[in-house]
Amino acid sequence: MEDYPENLLEFEDRFATEEACRQYFLKFRWPNGFRCPGCGNQKAWLTERNLYHCRNCGIQTSLFAGTIFQDTKKPLQLWFNAIWHITNQKYGANALGLQRILGFGSYRTAWAWLHKLRRAMVRPGRDRLSGTIEVDETFIGGEKAGKRGRGAAGKELVVIAAQKDDRKLGRIRLQRVPDASGNSLENAIQNNIAPGSIIQTDGWQGYNAIGELGYLHEVIREDTDVGNNLLPKAHLVASLLKRWLLGTYQGAVRPVHLDYYLDEYTFRFNRRTSRSRGKLFYRLLQQTAEVRPVTIHEIHGRKSGQAAIFD
Ligand SMILES: [Zn+2]
Repeated sequence: MEDYPENLLEFEDRFATEEACRQYFLKFRWPNGFRCPGCGNQKAWLTERNLYHCRNCGIQTSLFAGTIFQDTKKPLQLWFNAIWHITNQKYGANALGLQRILGFGSYRTAWAWLHKLRRAMVRPGRDRLSGTIEVDETFIGGEKAGKRGRGAAGKELVVIAAQKDDRKLGRIRLQRVPDASGNSLENAIQNNIAPGSIIQTDGWQGYNAIGELGYLHEVIREDTDVGNNLLPKAHLVASLLKRWLLGTYQGAVRPVHLDYYLDEYTFRFNRRTSRSRGKLFYRLLQQTAEVRPVTIHEIHGRKSGQAAIFD
């Protein structure tokens, strides 16, 4: 059963202590109870340093090992506050807002936390879209309007897959691609859409071969422009996405981080009709226990020694 606080009052009441947060997180970390990573034994005792000491082999395990909280020195309660804040902002949280809420002295810490939590917005092994899906591409970023077709300078090409639920817009997937070639588009489609689905596109040649990949391909518009004049559902997603990037992040998203902003947008978009914000909190926290830890160097997309990029 999914058990989560419905509002701020309940949240504050439930997670008033570090111990309460640990007990809650424990269910995500070990849904079937503690299991020793060394020997698989299920019995452990808790040491004074909050480590689980296996009764069989003696290995000590942290509640956070293998999760994105692995190396954190901050209380879990603070992370809970961060996740609650992020999932309760309808349009997402930026680092400055998070810094203020958590009382961090450093903008960089808030920035890094947001990026770590974005890594948890995609569930490992999530299912692909299925049914009838519109697929189109749009350009993100860049100062000037790009040239049509391939190679628009300073712009990133993003494939939008929008599932149709009756006439309404269902779930989406977004993926950045290097170009609009058949290879790139086919790769994006295979990553995000289950075989057997009906895929609707415009007449761009990059889509010509998707019928051979186990999809039913329908060309619903003869247009062959890349990144312009989108199909209706994809167009709606593209304009909402661009407005969100501008509104929440003032458009200050570097290409090196764009993938993670797309993940965040997808996470929010696919839960936009969720009855309770508490459910988003629950889901994101659950996924923090399932994604592998990420280092600050990985977040910066650089090797150590290179200059940091913050946005
Ligand atoms: Zn053991």
